[in-house]
Amino acid sequence: MAAKCSEIIAIMETLAPPELAAEWDNIGLMLGSPAAEVRRILVCLDVNLIVAEEAAARGANLIISHHPLFFHPVKHLCFDEAQGELVRRLVQNNIMVYSAHTNLDSADLGVSYHLAARLELEDIQVLAPTNREKYFKLVTFVPEDHEKVVREALTRAGAGWTGNYSDCTFRVAGTGTFRPLAGTSPYIGQEEKLAEVKEYRLETIFPTARLKEVLQALFKSHPYEEVAYDVYPLANEGPARGIGRIGALPRPVSLEELALQVKETLGAARVNVAGERERKVRKAAVCGGAGSDVMAVARAGGADVLVTGDLKFHEAQAAAAMDLAVIDAGHFATERIIVPALVTYLQEQLQEREVMVLASQKEQEPWHVF
Ligand SMILES: [Zn+2]
Repeated sequence: MAAKCSEIIAIMETLAPPELAAEWDNIGLMLGSPAAEVRRILVCLDVNLIVAEEAAARGANLIISHHPLFFHPVKHLCFDEAQGELVRRLVQNNIMVYSAHTNLDSADLGVSYHLAARLELEDIQVLAPTNREKYFKLVTFVPEDHEKVVREALTRAGAGWTGNYSDCTFRVAGTGTFRPLAGTSPYIGQEEKLAEVKEYRLETIFPTARLKEVLQALFKSHPYEEVAYDVYPLANEGPARGIGRIGALPRPVSLEELALQVKETLGAARVNVAGERERKVRKAAVCGGAGSDVMAVARAGGADVLVTGDLKFHEAQAAAAMDLAVIDAGHFATERIIVPALVTYLQEQLQEREVMVLASQKEQEPWHVF
């Protein structure tokens, strides 16, 4: 069975929650309909005419891109201009576009995480936290014979996760009372009579973003006509989420050695390096794309080197002034690593569906090195 576009969106939002996106960003479904069926997905960094033609040729009707199809406000779509022609070709070929940008950069298993993992960094931490996961507590009251069904439905919907533990719940037995009034059809008890029922008070926590799914699971699995439940906002601080990652290199190496390793691991055509060749580097910060904004926080966090892309002349000078070595492997190479990772993630999530997930083979680094 093919999947609905809305299901793919939910799978993407689990990986890259929309609330992680920067305020200035534009993410989500750019073109298409949540109700449409998806048979084949093409994953890429950028949607351009070459990728649109590739999607059409390979039978993909959904493109998932990192960089948004629409970033600046669209004032017109003229077919004799690049963006208008691109949208015309996409619509003509019935191709939808979904983009996950800064939310995918910051995601727990997003661009910067994969960059850190490629460099085999140890004890990987978020470099510049932008938010912390927020939680709700759910308390509900379930008749004894339905406790297991409700509990399992809640945990399947994303409740009860704490760090690396799943199915975290608590229950205590008690007595519930209620009086069904005229016109009700109670699961237990009779109209107008006070009923006393052995119930469990069942409680668990869940990320605020899962509210809809968790409540749907509760209402679907609970046997009562009127479900008694409370949702409390929690002040507990969840794990940090944000931009870039920082961690220890598996062993101290010279800046030159690390630069060559970065070049090879990322398949970059070139790396620009600022810093002394022989300098020993132990702690590295990484940031996919353009990471000049996190140079100071990388240095403050004890990084000897920042691996990123798109650094300018004055930024390299500023890094030297703060005694931070920088390796610029380019925007494309530091982000392109997310494409195979996304393909693997989507394939895992969709393994029981008839949806094929492909990586773009046509998109290329725009820079040539002579
Ligand atoms: Zn980028």
